[in-house]
Amino acid sequence: MRFILVAKTLDMVEKISSRIQITNTLVELFKQTPKEVVDKVIYFLQGKLWPEWMGMPELGLGEKMLIKAISIAYGVSEARVTSLYKDLGDLGVVAERLRSEKKSLTTSKGLMAFMGGAVSTESGLTVDRVYNTLARIAKAQGEGSRDLKLRLLSGLLREAEPLEARFIVRFVEGRHRIGVGDMTILDALAIAYAGGGSYRPVIERAYNLRADLAHVAKILVEKGVEALEKIKPEVGTPVKPMLAERHKDPAEMLAKVGGRAIVEYKYDGERAQIHKKGDQIWIFSRRLENITHMYPEVVESAKNYLVPNEVIVEGEIVAIDPDTGEMRPFQVLMTRKRKYEIHRAMKEVPVRVYLFDIIYVDGEDLTLRPLPERKKVLEQSVRENDVIKLAEYQYVSTPEELDRFFLKAVEEGAEGIMVKAIHQNSIYQAGNRGWLWIKYKRDYKSEMSDSVDLVVVGAFKGRGRRAGKYGTLLLAAYDKENDSFKTVCKVGTGFTDEDLEKMEDILKPYMIKNRHPRVVSEVEPDVWTEPALVAEIIGAELTLSPLHTCARGALKPDTGISIRFPRFIRWRDDKSPEEATTCDELVEMYKQQLRTVQE
Ligand code: ATP
Repeated sequence: MRFILVAKTLDMVEKISSRIQITNTLVELFKQTPKEVVDKVIYFLQGKLWPEWMGMPELGLGEKMLIKAISIAYGVSEARVTSLYKDLGDLGVVAERLRSEKKSLTTSKGLMAFMGGAVSTESGLTVDRVYNTLARIAKAQGEGSRDLKLRLLSGLLREAEPLEARFIVRFVEGRHRIGVGDMTILDALAIAYAGGGSYRPVIERAYNLRADLAHVAKILVEKGVEALEKIKPEVGTPVKPMLAERHKDPAEMLAKVGGRAIVEYKYDGERAQIHKKGDQIWIFSRRLENITHMYPEVVESAKNYLVPNEVIVEGEIVAIDPDTGEMRPFQVLMTRKRKYEIHRAMKEVPVRVYLFDIIYVDGEDLTLRPLPERKKVLEQSVRENDVIKLAEYQYVSTPEELDRFFLKAVEEGAEGIMVKAIHQNSIYQAGNRGWLWIKYKRDYKSEMSDSVDLVVVGAFKGRGRRAGKYGTLLLAAYDKENDSFKTVCKVGTGFTDEDLEKMEDILKPYMIKNRHPRVVSEVEPDVWTEPALVAEIIGAELTLSPLHTCARGALKPDTGISIRFPRFIRWRDDKSPEEATTCDELVEMYKQQLRTVQE
């Protein structure tokens, strides 16, 4: 197939704005496209050589190199190319112009030479030749690759027609300024190959299950629409993720999903679609990039703890505090992503993945099965360990249950909850946003305005580096009215190595066998202490808590107050436990915080 057909189509598409007309233009193109090259034609329309998730190299030619290639191809100085670029504002058009000038020159020479004989003014460039040359340019890496890239590209431009040159240059620039979106290509494929627009949903579903439109089109032209109807996810090719709507009224959310629901922690990290085939693992991001190399520990665990031979699961990768095992905010995960040395990053910011769905297992497409069934298969497919865990979820049927779960989730560092439908039609809607999943996030974000002073009432042994040593404290506020100490949070972050070294010595004099009678707690620490030591703490914000006893019922029935992401600042040896922050003060701070957010 001649490349000029693609170039002419792109040129036409550029000139029209009606989607129907664009679709018809593409249909005409597809009608002239032989089966063997339909995939390449689609990649040209999409402006790429392959899907990003394949992790293949990009063309790697910056603007300077492109200018050089054009100057070599058409025998003009780089200064001339640059000045034309300034005038025309588009390197593609510059190449087109220079190619035409050269062409008229050769044509007139040719005419003289042949004395009026027939001179072909069209290039012989085929889709294959253009695609393969561009692919070679992309794959050229390492020493000498710059020259090779330049040589290949200038050769291609020399052979090209003016119009072809325009689109080759634009393609290389990566600024594919044509208005063909994937959805229009899908429309055109349905008309050209599947006998009409009514088949469009079949093609779209196939594309959602295998995020490579060229590959889907190839199956369509080679095997027909029936083959696409039966298409299943394929390990190694990302599935477009299912997305959620958002809402904030518990009763309405429940009504929207049919009265009963699974509520699940909405973890605050990075979405990860994990594919496993034997020993081979891929991890794809929310935007379908291949992020496998960023999470070696997840790869290792997936190999060993995902039971099926072939499986696609979905979860959220979250940063974990190496010393306490607690979840860290999303920003901490980002610091890991910015780090160059992955092995250092792994140590400083370990991660855990919380799996919430399963899409495919050993030859079986699970996307059309209801969520409770998928959950069962997921649970059978995973052996939980320190890195891979199942997302925390619960079945609920009342707004109160839903709300309680929400508070617990937020307190533990989740961003909120996902409310998920569980009825017969609760399928995995790949690539679609709908009301089968609803996100319910806390609707305010604010810094805690001031630090607080809390009383140590117990302690927990640490993990990792801190294994066997006390590394986390259970803290309480003072309840003046009852002269007791009511728990607010656990703190395991913010301690220096020296603080940790000394921790046991500091706590020892106060350790007791059972809960102190003045302490009101539903949390059971590894060791209880007398309420004596006071620590200064700051956190991200005050939150409501179903777990902690401080100010229980003051703001909401059966609900206390807590601190999200608390951090130790220093010991307050100068304060007695009764001088610590009181529960009433925390209630005031919470109300103040709400007011600040609303203002
Ligand atoms: P969206 O993905 O809906 O376009 P977004 O990218 O802004 O929006 P959020 O609004 O934060 O993301 O919510 C959706 C994301 O929540 C998911 O893509 C996923 O990464 C994350 N998530 C965390 N926990 C879960 C869970 N239990 N189930 C589904 N998604 C979860």
